[in-house]
Amino acid sequence: MREECAYSEFDRKENLHFDSKVVHGALGCEPITGAVSFPIFQTATFRHVTFGVSTGYNYSRVQNPTRQELERTMAILENGAEGFAFTSGQAANMAVFNLLENGDHVILCDDIYGGTFRICDEIFSKFNCEFTYVDMTELDNIKNALRPETKMIFLETPTNPMMKVADIQEIAKIAKENNCIFVVDNTFLTPYFQKPLDLGADIVVHSGTKYLTGHNDVIAGVVVVKDPARIPFFQGQIKSMGAQLAPFDCWLILRGLKTLSLRMRQHDENARKVANWLLTQPKVKKVYYAGFENHKGYEISKKQCTGFGGMISFELDSEKTAQDLLSNVNMILFAESLGGTETLITYPWTQTHESIPDDTKMALGITKAFVRISIGIENVDDIIADLDQALNR
Ligand SMILES: *Cc1c(COP(=O)(O)O)cnc(C)c1O
Repeated sequence: MREECAYSEFDRKENLHFDSKVVHGALGCEPITGAVSFPIFQTATFRHVTFGVSTGYNYSRVQNPTRQELERTMAILENGAEGFAFTSGQAANMAVFNLLENGDHVILCDDIYGGTFRICDEIFSKFNCEFTYVDMTELDNIKNALRPETKMIFLETPTNPMMKVADIQEIAKIAKENNCIFVVDNTFLTPYFQKPLDLGADIVVHSGTKYLTGHNDVIAGVVVVKDPARIPFFQGQIKSMGAQLAPFDCWLILRGLKTLSLRMRQHDENARKVANWLLTQPKVKKVYYAGFENHKGYEISKKQCTGFGGMISFELDSEKTAQDLLSNVNMILFAESLGGTETLITYPWTQTHESIPDDTKMALGITKAFVRISIGIENVDDIIADLDQALNR
């Protein structure tokens, strides 16, 4: 069918700064009507122009202009060839792991997001795939885990929740030399602070639920590929899995993205102050924050990111102190998730990392006295005051 797509042309806005790209997206303003807010194309199907001629949009599972605007915007922000918007970070990760074939081996970082672990452990292990989890802050651990059948290296940096920082450029070299697909989950820093594709990664995944949307109101996932040759595979994933993000949710992310730069700057500034305050607290045994100068990965962060983000984990002097803190916070919300305007505090032991075996958690340092906090964009004095009253009563 011949296509006459109204939106085939878009501007990658190479000449603009990142702060402007987030505001103006791919098309940004809708070109036919001039609508400044890109419309929500709430339609399942599209009328054909005439026999054999399509507008370029036939059925919304396959193509939808609002989703396309988000996907192209994400490709622009991550400096990739194309983006793909899924119903969740989990669905985005599923699509990435669908690159595996029977018998393939994958190396992942050891304190990986619990849901990613579950995809490997509960789904792909059935297809004779094998997974090795290593501390990627030591490159030798990756080299030693390589096998002839290693197909993929999967990294989160900073890791969740231990805030370990791994060297994307060095791991990209290992991946290239060994013909592996290198995937980076960039949920924690977003392209505002870190652009893995520029550093040599092949694929970036996001839980769009977190900073991209930024307002704790959407569940979404994004994949961005660097090589245009991978576009048909992920288009096929969208078409076959049927896990494409709905138009309204795409619009909410586009709206959220407009303030990504502002929000990330505030998350980063607030987190630095909270992390330093936590260090002064007698009931806090250890603070995990990538922005400390004595953090093992500090120099790597300086090289590959422009900020440290809003995530902090810390260990308290006892399980009881942790439980009291979670019970007594007021403005800060005891809730799962991260990356939104609200400060959220979570308990990885039974929440995000519940699927990880207890002995693995303990070996990583995730104890029952361990909490993770996603610093929001509230006034930082209120965040600290709330932590203070909940900890020191
Ligand atoms: C939340 C999260 C996911 C999963 O995303 P959902 O949108 O919850 O499905 C994957 N990776 C990381 C790092 C996350 O924080």
